[in-house]
Amino acid sequence: MNVGLEEQVAPLQGRIPVFTRSVKGVFRRFKTVILILAYTIFFGLPWVPWSRNDGPAQAVLFDLPGRRFLIFDLTIYPQDVVWLALLLFIAAAVLFFFTALVGRAFCGYFCFQTLWTDFFIWIESKVQGERPARIRLYRQPWDREKIVRIGATHVAWLLTSFWTAMSFVLYFGYAPELVTRFLTGEAESAAYVTVGVLTLATYFAAGYMREQICTYICPYGRFQSAMYDRETLAVHYDARRGEGKYGRASARSGMRTLEERREKGNGDCIDCGLCVQVCPTGIDIREGLQYRCISCGLCIDACNGIMDSLGFPRGLIRYDSEQNLENPAPVKPRLHWKRLKVIGYGLAIVLMSVYLAYSIASRSAFEGAVTQIRQPLFVVLSNGDIRNRYQIRVTNKLDVEETYSVSIKGLPVSALDMGEFSEVTVKPGHSAILQASIVLDAEMAESVHEVTFVITPRSHPDQARIETAGFHYKPLGT
Ligand code: SF4
Ligand code: SF4
Repeated sequence: MNVGLEEQVAPLQGRIPVFTRSVKGVFRRFKTVILILAYTIFFGLPWVPWSRNDGPAQAVLFDLPGRRFLIFDLTIYPQDVVWLALLLFIAAAVLFFFTALVGRAFCGYFCFQTLWTDFFIWIESKVQGERPARIRLYRQPWDREKIVRIGATHVAWLLTSFWTAMSFVLYFGYAPELVTRFLTGEAESAAYVTVGVLTLATYFAAGYMREQICTYICPYGRFQSAMYDRETLAVHYDARRGEGKYGRASARSGMRTLEERREKGNGDCIDCGLCVQVCPTGIDIREGLQYRCISCGLCIDACNGIMDSLGFPRGLIRYDSEQNLENPAPVKPRLHWKRLKVIGYGLAIVLMSVYLAYSIASRSAFEGAVTQIRQPLFVVLSNGDIRNRYQIRVTNKLDVEETYSVSIKGLPVSALDMGEFSEVTVKPGHSAILQASIVLDAEMAESVHEVTFVITPRSHPDQARIETAGFHYKPLGT
């Protein structure tokens, strides 16, 4: 009951359901492995314990009130937002890299929409039966059987959606405690709103909208063609082989062997329609490469199964490049990675990843910044001395409390006036601001243009940081 392309793209037309047939094969197995892996990580990660000094024992925790992300032994503070930006750039480059190599494969195997739709279809087939049973159920009137089966499907979808939403929220609080508070009605209202919105979003996206998200909503589906070229591997139907001279024909008597079909001028496609029936987006790949194809490879599995049963060579539908398909003597499909854009994307990924790893590995235990207070730029004291004022910000990036002291270099020690606070104790992940003054006699003030501050953590004096700031003085009449 997969519908034709023209019907689905008609403006303002409601969705016509796609009833996919189950299929076995290497791409189906790969999709299942990715699905299990992704679900294990997504649903399991909030429950992985991890002991740390200054926070809940949860391996991955996005601690919004504490303004930090706890990821195993790594603590990310707002000051590290550049890492997040870098991570997003790397993710985008990885997406472009794989699209240039193997088309829309990310969509077919790794995208959240694909993973959840795939699982929802699995639920549907377990509760309602295989494709013919589901079509029959769809067409039959609302009797008891239909109400029970459709109702059970929706209950299972809603439960899955709820636990998906709940698992997402568990990344933002200590999971065992948050679940209890949520179920007893004691959690924050934001948790209930988020779970409610995400439950509905998951239910509608994976239960109802499915391929329409990929076709009409996902922007990637629209611009991915810019990354394709004639050497990109994508799922293709080998029309030359499948159609022959006189087109496809069923495997009826006298048309069951390759020799018989060649003799009559027909191609290898027996027009069984299985490739269309297994397609989650409801398209017919035999009509050519289409932007709706998410490169999931299920039609390859379906067709290979048919080819095997007939004793024909596999690969009538396969991952191949346009260039190879148009070749008078196509060779075995292979990845064409020696292309400028693939190498460029690859290089960008490596460079950004190395920089990110280096930046994380070499992160200092604290950050210090000194800024001169410029209003006024300087003050002439009653005894003629010149005073400049500074603000010193210290951020503790350790997971324990630390005490920092401030001193100066290259100037008399007495020039530094920290008031009552010559040192400050800062909680993990927090910042403290100190006020400092530098007071010099007028003669020295004329020759000093910069002050060097030294911020020293008490328990790691070897990690002292040097920060400089300007010293300003302009005598009257100059
Ligand atoms: S045409 Fe084939 S590869 Fe493309 S979405 Fe349909 S089943 Fe997947
Ligand atoms: S599965 Fe293969 S043989 Fe059957 S219709 Fe599709 S391309 Fe033709």
